[in-house]
Amino acid sequence: MANEDLGEIKCGYHVEPVDAVVRRDKKGKLYIYCPECGIISPRNAKFQSYIENNMTAFNVEPVPEKEAGPVARPEPEKEAAPVTRPEPEKEAAPVAKPEPEKKPDDLEEWMK
Ligand SMILES: [Zn+2]
Repeated sequence: MANEDLGEIKCGYHVEPVDAVVRRDKKGKLYIYCPECGIISPRNAKFQSYIENNMTAFNVEPVPEKEAGPVARPEPEKEAAPVTRPEPEKEAAPVAKPEPEKKPDDLEEWMK
């Protein structure tokens, strides 16, 4: 089984940095897997911290579920009295308002 992709990192061994992924080997060391270079796995501790500092970690950890604890919600003070709203007299006819067409006459009038 392939090692899990932990994050991504730019592989710098190119004219233009290439997107590579960061993985952890069986010994717990981070290494870079670049699609063009292959596995880059310097063992020096400095390089380990380089990866850690430069990688963009994927969201591998599941989002912790919010505790569904009892929410102490304060009772609303206001009494929710039923509001009897009077029916509006006006007929709410759907008004399809057409775009006001500019009358060229007006413009000519204005130009005078
Ligand atoms: Zn590379």
